[in-house]
Amino acid sequence: MIVIVGAGVSGLALGMQLSARRIPYILLESSDRVGGVVRTIELEGRSLDLGPQRLRASPELAGLRPHMGPMHEFTDDLPVLIARGGRLHPLPRSLGEALRTPAISTAGKLRAALEPFAALLPDDESLSAGAYLRRRVGREVYETFLGPLFGGLYGSDPDRMDATRTLRPGMEALGVNSFVWRLLGPRRAKGLMERSILVPADGMAALPRALLERQEHEVRLSCPVSHVGSFGGTGGFRVEAGDESIEATQVVVTTPPGPASRILREVAPALSVALGKLRMNPLALVHLDADRLPDGLGFQVAFDEPMRIRGVTFSGNLDGTGRTAVVFMGGMADPEVVDTPDAELERTAAAEFTRVTGIPARVLHLHRTAMPTWDRSWRALDDLRPPAGIHLLSAYSGRPGIIGRLREAERLARGLQRAG
Ligand SMILES: Cc1cc2nc3c(=O)[nH]c(=O)nc-3n(C[C@H](O)[C@H](O)[C@H](O)COP(=O)(O)OP(=O)(O)OC[C@H]3O[C@@H](n4cnc5c(N)ncnc54)[C@H](O)[C@@H]3O)c2cc1C
Repeated sequence: MIVIVGAGVSGLALGMQLSARRIPYILLESSDRVGGVVRTIELEGRSLDLGPQRLRASPELAGLRPHMGPMHEFTDDLPVLIARGGRLHPLPRSLGEALRTPAISTAGKLRAALEPFAALLPDDESLSAGAYLRRRVGREVYETFLGPLFGGLYGSDPDRMDATRTLRPGMEALGVNSFVWRLLGPRRAKGLMERSILVPADGMAALPRALLERQEHEVRLSCPVSHVGSFGGTGGFRVEAGDESIEATQVVVTTPPGPASRILREVAPALSVALGKLRMNPLALVHLDADRLPDGLGFQVAFDEPMRIRGVTFSGNLDGTGRTAVVFMGGMADPEVVDTPDAELERTAAAEFTRVTGIPARVLHLHRTAMPTWDRSWRALDDLRPPAGIHLLSAYSGRPGIIGRLREAERLARGLQRAG
């Protein structure tokens, strides 16, 4: 029997893949719902997403889309904005726009134009993503555009992330070896710019719902796993969950690093210590009801802008309400978010949103969550492999993001099938 621990997207996607291969499993989830960080609530007649806000159309979703209900689909030509100097500037999308943008000084533009002469893919393991990007495009374009955009994807600080681990795989996948020229030129980064954006009409919870529908084996909710032990020298395992002890031939752990470290303490002590060292960035998401929204996907904030908001998604432009904005606060730049009272975060989110957009907004909801930092604490995982029969399937053990989760679940299911 295969036991999967955690029914977020990773665990559910693996269950779906095992079902398709007719391999029996049991999926154990500690909370009373599936989806993990993917979560939608209903408030004042709208669906608010408390985790991911949208998906990129990709082949991994093809089989799931018919099960996800109605979907809004957008070609990716909505502008992305940057807050700098107290106002919003569109991210330049052509050479002409780059030359005209008032967000960057003439000296900054000239420095960025030297990019084709800078070194290509990062190969120095000691180089941070921030240092690499500054070397490529200069400090001003980095701090205004590339740093906030790249750091915003991870809620992290590029100066504390390894360039070879975090930047290089994405650059290789997209075939991007020159940001300025590739992103502004007529042949823009394939894949990144050409895949449309999908937003389920009832919110992102449509994805775990669709994954749950396609499970052929048991999914148990409110069933927290406390630890995994070896099973009498047979190579098997005992998974302890509440009063129950379940025998397993293979165990797949998909929980965040903290619980994974506790669960694996007995059966994989070195890995458990390494997992215990991985850091998470605290985040606060504040949903706003704005009188209207600027055109675009949302904005990121230049590093030198005195704001606590790190980024905003204009969800209302994608979900048909025209009014919902999701403010992201915290991340590595602002760990104090943990100790800041809800009321203060809510006030700051609404006030800063209105200051840069000029649009009045009121607070709908505040949600606290966390994301892996993908910083240098991740080196703790180097050279550590789980013992035979134990598997990690998670954003911190592989590619982050939902599509990465679906892809890796498929790969692991193939491996488990081969292992018989
Ligand atoms: C705020 C935010 C925004 C994001 N935005 C995007 C985006 O726009 N696009 C994108 O592609 N990705 C985005 N991501 C990333 C993506 O959502 C995650 O990588 C992915 O959903 C992680 O899924 P998972 O199943 O690996 O982990 P999780 O969702 O963390 O699921 C782990 C599950 O394990 C359960 N669990 C924990 N302990 C135990 C235990 N002891 N026993 C049993 N079960 C346990 C948890 O309850 C949870 O259900 C975002 C993430 C966050 C936090």
